[in-house]
Amino acid sequence: MKNTISQTLEINEVSESKIGQVDFENLNFGKIFTDHMFVCDYINGEWQTPKIVPYGPLTMEPSARVFHYGQAVFEGMKAYKDDQGDTFLFRPDENYKRINKSAERLAMPEFPKEYFFDGLNALLKLDNNWIKPGFGNSLYIRPFVIATQASVSASEADEYKFLIICSPAQSYYSGDVSVLVAEKFSRSASGGFGYAKAAGNYAGQFYPTNLAKQQGYQQVIWTDSNTHEYMEEAGTMNVFFRVNDTLLTAPISDRILDGVTRKSLIAIAEKEGIKVDVRPVKVSEIVEAAKNRSLKEIFGAGTAAVVSPVKAFGYQGEHYEIQKQENSYADYFKKALMDIQYNISEDTFGWRY
Ligand code: PMP
Repeated sequence: MKNTISQTLEINEVSESKIGQVDFENLNFGKIFTDHMFVCDYINGEWQTPKIVPYGPLTMEPSARVFHYGQAVFEGMKAYKDDQGDTFLFRPDENYKRINKSAERLAMPEFPKEYFFDGLNALLKLDNNWIKPGFGNSLYIRPFVIATQASVSASEADEYKFLIICSPAQSYYSGDVSVLVAEKFSRSASGGFGYAKAAGNYAGQFYPTNLAKQQGYQQVIWTDSNTHEYMEEAGTMNVFFRVNDTLLTAPISDRILDGVTRKSLIAIAEKEGIKVDVRPVKVSEIVEAAKNRSLKEIFGAGTAAVVSPVKAFGYQGEHYEIQKQENSYADYFKKALMDIQYNISEDTFGWRY
């Protein structure tokens, strides 16, 4: 019988934790990492014995293909701790499925499910002190895969590294954001790989997002690359529009990331009897709704910020403000989701792990 990975997983613990040096009251998102990381190499067509080792630099050949062709995919998920000290993940199966979907699109090998979950469990046990209880505190978990093969030949690699690193995150209120609706730039194209959480999808957003920042907007809402007439998603969030009491959000396509938060909000809304229309959302109908004040809310949905209200948007040189709502859907969804994540409410959907 094949050994399970928990039997073969090699663990090399740090001699001294650096947790004492961390100011958990003043965390900068994604800057500090826990004591350990999970590493597994793919060589000769097989994933090798996975390891947990002290968090630290990697050594790679400058010719490693990830540096040249961007063959890299990643995930973003969080661990939460309740007041009894129990640790939870939120729908981790979805992240597991998605990283393999992303990997497939970038011609990378599938990562075994048992490795993913046993590695995650072992890592979170070892670095459990880094997950602080308290509503909003969490441990941001970043699994990723990179092409390590040393060769600048422009084809897929035959050697890879799968890693999981973890960064403590604090409850933060980023403030309501202003967004610019894209008129010229696209995040992804039909037939491309926008649906994959691939490194290059993010690199390509920085420049147009910087241009938006120069105009006073923090983020861009990407529109479809074919016509720029339809709203798609934001940089790291799917987007919802509340027109009167109906929620609108774009359907998933090969250009849009299938967000775990998005699908969870849709499920909560349907259960609560809030009408959700998943259909192409025209920029012109949102502009019209903003003008006639039937546009009540826009918010982004994603793991990092959970639900992020949008206070204004820009389009074709015009600036549209959205009046703050009493009893907003954004606040309602944020609480409903976090209550499940932090083991406060009953988990009727079976999402806690
Ligand atoms: N869209 C993009 C482009 C993203 O990077 C993310 C963050 N993963 C999301 C949407 C939201 O996805 P999720 O709810 O799974 O975090």
